[in-house]
Formats: sequence, C-alpha cells, structure tokens
Amino acid sequence: MFEKILIANRGEIALRVQRACRELGIKTVCVYSEADREAKYVKLADESVCIGPASSTLSYLNVPSVISAAEVTDAEAIHPGYGFLSENADFAERVEQSGFVFIGPRPETIRMMGDKVSAKDAMKAAKVPCVPGSDGALPDDPEEVLKIGRSVGYPVIIKAAGGGGGRGMRVVHTEAALLSSVEMTKAEAQAAFGNPVVYMEKFLTQPRHIEIQVMADEHGNAVYLGERDCSMQRRHQKVIEEAPAPGIPRKLINAVGERCAEACRTIGYRGAGTFEFLFENDEFYFIEMNTRVQVEHPVTELTSGIDIVQAQIRVAAGEELPWSQKDIKPHGHAIECRINAEDPHTFMPSPGRLTAFHMPGGPGIRVDTHAYHGYMVPPNYDSMIGKLIAYGDTRDQAIAKMRIALSEMVIEGIKTNVPLHSELMLDEAFKKGGTSIHYLEHKLGIKT
Ligand code: ADP
Repeated sequence: MFEKILIANRGEIALRVQRACRELGIKTVCVYSEADREAKYVKLADESVCIGPASSTLSYLNVPSVISAAEVTDAEAIHPGYGFLSENADFAERVEQSGFVFIGPRPETIRMMGDKVSAKDAMKAAKVPCVPGSDGALPDDPEEVLKIGRSVGYPVIIKAAGGGGGRGMRVVHTEAALLSSVEMTKAEAQAAFGNPVVYMEKFLTQPRHIEIQVMADEHGNAVYLGERDCSMQRRHQKVIEEAPAPGIPRKLINAVGERCAEACRTIGYRGAGTFEFLFENDEFYFIEMNTRVQVEHPVTELTSGIDIVQAQIRVAAGEELPWSQKDIKPHGHAIECRINAEDPHTFMPSPGRLTAFHMPGGPGIRVDTHAYHGYMVPPNYDSMIGKLIAYGDTRDQAIAKMRIALSEMVIEGIKTNVPLHSELMLDEAFKKGGTSIHYLEHKLGIKT
C-alpha cells in the first residue's frame, strides 16, 4: 500500500479522499489555491502545498504545479477526485511519466472514453446498447448528413465528440434546421473543446438517466456495484441521485450491469467508473462513460456497503478486487441531495461567509461537506458545498429521513437550494418515482 497520496482537488471530495486515506493509514498531501488557504480540510492533511492563485486554471488545473507538489512532498500516488484534472488523459500520462501512480484508469482508456465518438465505438464493439445515431462522426458532405438525419428520424441531437458538463449539444426537430444546427454545434465545439467533431443521436423525448457503477482491477476482474437514477436534472446537471432506480426490474439492471462489467474486461478498464445510460421504454442506451469517482458515489456506497474511494486506492496499488459479482448484494435505498450555494429560484451562485451552519444527523444520515460555521464559500469554483445523503430500508423511509434532515439543516449567510430539495421531497411525481430527465425543468417552468 502507498505511504503518501497527494489529493489533486478541493472541497468535499478532497476531504472525502483524505478520510479514505487516513482510514487506510496513508499520509495525505493537500494542494490548495490561495482562495482555499483557510479551509479546515487543508489543515487536517499531513502536509499542504499552495499551488497557485484562486483561478483554477492557475491552480487546480495547473499540471506542472500539481506535479511539483507531489515531487517536493515525496507522494507516491495522486488522486484526482472529480472535475478539474480527473479526466485529463495528458495529466494522467504526465503523472505516470513523472514516476507517480495515477489513481484511475490508464491514460489511453481516459483518452478513448473522453472522446464520445471513440467511446461509443468501443461500447458498440463490447455489445453495450447505444443510442441509435450516426455511425461515428458526421461527414462533411451535407447530402450525407441529411441522409443520416432521415434514417435516424427526428428529433435528433447533435453532440460534440469532445463535449462535457452538459455543453456542446443541440436538439434538432426538423430537417430544415439540420445543416445550420450542425454547423453551429461544430463551431461551438471547436471554440469550447478545441475539437469540431460532432455526431448525431436520436433525441429521446422522455428518458430517465440511469447509470451503472463499476469497479475493475488490473488483473482482469470487474464487477458492477449497482445502478443510480440521476434523472432529477437542471441544465443537464444532476440535482438529486438515488439507488436503486425506482421501478426498474432487477433482471434489466443485472443484464446491463453484466454488459458493463464485461466491457471493462474487454477494454482493460482499471479503477472506478460509471456507464451512463438513458433509459426509455425498458431499454438502456449508452451515452458516455465517466472514468473517475462521481459526485453521487455515496448512494452506491450506502446500498452496497463498499467504500468506493478506498477501493480505487487499493486497485491503484495493484491489489485484486476482494469481491466477485455474487458478493455484491445491494440493500435498502439511498438518496443524495446536492447542496449548492445558489439562489433556489434563479440558480444564481451565492458565494459568501457562512454565518450559521448546523448539519442534521441521526440514523441513516450522511453529510459529506468541507464547510463549517464561518467558512467562506469562494466565488471561484463550482457552487456545490456539500451533499446530504439519507439511507433507509425502503425508498419511502429514505425520503422521510431526507425530509427531516433537510428541515434540521441550517445554513445562513448565503442562499442555498435546500428549499428546492424540501419541496421535491414532497413532490407527488418524485415520491412515486421514475420521473424523466425533463421533469424538474418542466416543474420549474424552464423552457428547454
Ligand atoms: P455530458 O458529458 O455533457 O454530461 P452526456 O452525453 O452525458 O453529456 O449528456 C448529458 C445529458 O444530456 C443527459 O443526461 C441527457 O439529459 C441529455 N442527452 C444526451 N443525449 C441525449 C439523447 N440522445 N436524447 C435525449 N437527451 C440526451
């Protein structure tokens, strides 16, 4: 096992990884920007290194700074968390070339999955069901594009191969709008991701977002730890996640889960990963793979009893997975609410100092946050300041626990989306389960 790990991230996930390391008896190095200097988790680490000013381009995304921090502290491995450099294949490569272990898949796997066209090709080859659409990138010939549009059938969605974070996508309802939409998406993709390649998919009108958590080692073993339903979204960003997905027959989940585990073995996947699917009319359609730990990993930890971050570290150290598929027995129900520093109606970020901070507790409640009374939420980063997770024997019990926990939660000095979560816990459609990815925006009256 490693003696010292550098955590190349900030906020709640930096603290989450730090806790996993401490439980495993591993020393931690925390890197931080000037905006995070005062944060308590920075002080809790065995060592800490300032890697630059507040701007993430100059700090958390600054590859030479992160690598130098690992060099001066003699860390053996680097955990990238999520976001920032976690899915940057060049970074993973630099980490390995500099003699450190990257806690994640091989750089070439990250590269393949980071390009959605090559990811889909790999998944098709591994017999994972995909959304029908163009066979790879769209060609330059407009006649060909129109032909593909006709064969896929409207509405379609044009997506950037290099896209991410819900950006680089455009829905097209008619043939008349197709060519101009393709050109616009290409131009945007070039500007945003430096890659103009786009592809076409059938636009599913009422799908749910269901994803499969996998864990694989470098000895050819791979298992799936269950599914998550992340359909409660706004602007393609997840708001609430839960496990298991309400109302989906186990045999469908097991079939697609098996496919994902098999795909991991086929492509030589290593570490934790997530296969994201849209689910409509009892069919799964692969959209992308995330090659890192996800924000919503705790719901799977609670239902599977497996510490995913510790498993990532063990796999990176070369250990074999300690379980086979038959040992994975999901139980109970877990729901996660992302707590964001934002206006609950306009969703405008609301940074600032926390003048009161009281977290709920009791059986079945987990809070993952780096925030505390007096903490200053910096304006420079993502607005998520923590996650509230409720676990119960049944979904109804988990909802009841979440409702009470939300009512106990006190965060003052900034605005948060806690009122929205409290409202959603009472929402009839949510309580019933199985809402589509458009439900929240419809409910809020947002046009898409
Ligand atoms: P990103 O990497 O930007 O998150 P994804 O490919 O995962 O992009 O898609 C993000 C979201 O966009 C999905 O969760 C879904 O809400 C919507 N979406 C993507 N592809 C389709 C599709 N073919 N039909 C309908 N909605 C889609």
